[in-house]
Amino acid sequence: MKTEQFKKKLEAEKAKLESEMGTVGRKNLAVPGDWEAVPSEIGTESDLADQADVVMSRESNSAILADLEARYDTVMEALSRIEKKTYGKCEVCGEKIEEARLEADPTATTCVEHL
Ligand SMILES: [Zn+2]
Repeated sequence: MKTEQFKKKLEAEKAKLESEMGTVGRKNLAVPGDWEAVPSEIGTESDLADQADVVMSRESNSAILADLEARYDTVMEALSRIEKKTYGKCEVCGEKIEEARLEADPTATTCVEHL
């Protein structure tokens, strides 16, 4: 199977997710590969009302970040399957995943039959 086109798509998705993650979080330097949420507005800690906003935005950023991280992991797994040449195989039956399906979702791990 030609994986080049899917690899390109996955890498574009990875770059997009990384930049989105950069808007709601920062890399956790203590844990490589992990991200932590940052408040969306920084510098408003002096005001009590704003402090509540900061807490809320941190919470919603965590939720957004968790979602982005989950997608990011899925993309990274798909890229590693390309490296290991197992990309495009259904993990249930081992048959080829339809290219149209991979076209629609390059991170798919199962064929149409085993959705
Ligand atoms: Zn299958």
